[in-house]
Amino acid sequence: MSFERLRRVPRTVGFRLAVWSSAFFVASTLVSFGLAYVLVSSSLQQSERASIQMELDELAARYRSGGLPGLAQELALQERLGTTEPFLVRVVDLGNRAAAFVAAPHRWAGFDLDRLDSAQRAPDQEWVLLPARHGDKVLEVTSFRLPDGVILQVGKTTGGRDEVLERFRATAAGVLIPLLVLSLGGGLLLAFWALRPIRHIIQTVRAIEAGAMHARVPTRPTGDELDELGRLFNGMLDRIATLIAGMRDALDRVAHDLRTPVTRIRGVAEVALRADQGPDASRQALADCVEESDQLLTLLNTLMDISEAETGALRLRLKRVNLSDLVEDAVELYRHVAEEKRIVVSTAAGPDLWLTADRSRLRQVLANLLDNAIKYTAPGGRVEVTAQKQAGTVLISVRDTGIGLTPDEVPRIWDRLYRGDQSRSERGLGLGLSLVRAVVQAHGGQSNVSSAIGVGSTFTISFPLSSVGIG
Ligand code: ADP
Repeated sequence: MSFERLRRVPRTVGFRLAVWSSAFFVASTLVSFGLAYVLVSSSLQQSERASIQMELDELAARYRSGGLPGLAQELALQERLGTTEPFLVRVVDLGNRAAAFVAAPHRWAGFDLDRLDSAQRAPDQEWVLLPARHGDKVLEVTSFRLPDGVILQVGKTTGGRDEVLERFRATAAGVLIPLLVLSLGGGLLLAFWALRPIRHIIQTVRAIEAGAMHARVPTRPTGDELDELGRLFNGMLDRIATLIAGMRDALDRVAHDLRTPVTRIRGVAEVALRADQGPDASRQALADCVEESDQLLTLLNTLMDISEAETGALRLRLKRVNLSDLVEDAVELYRHVAEEKRIVVSTAAGPDLWLTADRSRLRQVLANLLDNAIKYTAPGGRVEVTAQKQAGTVLISVRDTGIGLTPDEVPRIWDRLYRGDQSRSERGLGLGLSLVRAVVQAHGGQSNVSSAIGVGSTFTISFPLSSVGIG
């Protein structure tokens, strides 16, 4: 790994995830240890205090029955038998405010026992903590006021308890440090493994940036979210590749289709310039040039209309449009052409069908479909235009008994400048259906075709009732 990549590691998501997860893990372990520590320490304290209390009760009973000598005797017996732990036993005479008795005083030399005299002011059974003069030992003492006015004090150092707690702390530290290393390492490994698909996506984008347009994200059959992201990403790349190929194709076709009329204009102009013709011939040449230019302009304008409709930039003048009027209008436009070809055009549209749409654009769509239907139907054929409501949509269909389409042609007829082999003899630019699809989509609708060779085709455009506000 290069130095630069190493330097970037702390900024990576994987590293940050690992640090955060181990921080949470260590924090929760610390809280658990802390709780356990508090519990152990308080239960140790409770049990030690209970044992001090028991000793106090026992000695108080002995004092009551045998006085100070009885108490001393009991302590000597205990000492000899070695049955109990070393307790501080002290008797304070309230009369002269001084210790009347201290058992084994050498044991408690490290403590300033005189300070315990103030304990006589503390209520019975209160606990007094007396720190050692040097070191961190603490003496825990409780006292009991006996009936003859003396105070019996019994205590014990917290050394044993502190030792246990010290061992507990050492163990906790010994466990926590490897735990921290383990959780950080584990977190890093986990993050590195989990983010592998993201790294694949980054590598793919880098490869594409470097020009390898066919690079794709490797996917695994795990079906998890990251795998799905990879698949979606690949799907998106495929779609973009198809679109780019389509655009390149369309550009090639446009270039090809522009070359013919431009070459013709140039030819006509060149001949007119070269030959010494009269004004009539020159006028004719100019008229030819104008005609060719008009065709070129129509081609360019239609191409621009299609792009605008596809990108949503086409301005639609939305109005409520009565569909039976619209159908009649469009059919009227082609009545003459149809009659010339002896094609019967019939219509069927309910009178109360309304669409909120751009009337002239919709008429253009119907005109294109009708134009094709008449163009690609042999003389004597039939064309039928219908408009109806169906399952939440409004359907307009143009059915003909024409030449039909091969299954291969069906998906391609909507492409810009596509012209079927059989249609070469007919006039046309190959833009009619592209415009139909783009305008229908701009209205939120869909366009479809079903066709059979030699039987005829049915072109259908549909608009959802809700989105176009049909009344
Ligand atoms: P044009 O009609 O100018 O060639 P279109 O975009 O309108 O362009 O149509 C594209 C192609 O689809 C046509 O060249 C033709 O091959 C085919 N086509 C369109 N309409 C019909 C139809 N009604 N019957 C058979 N083929 C059709």
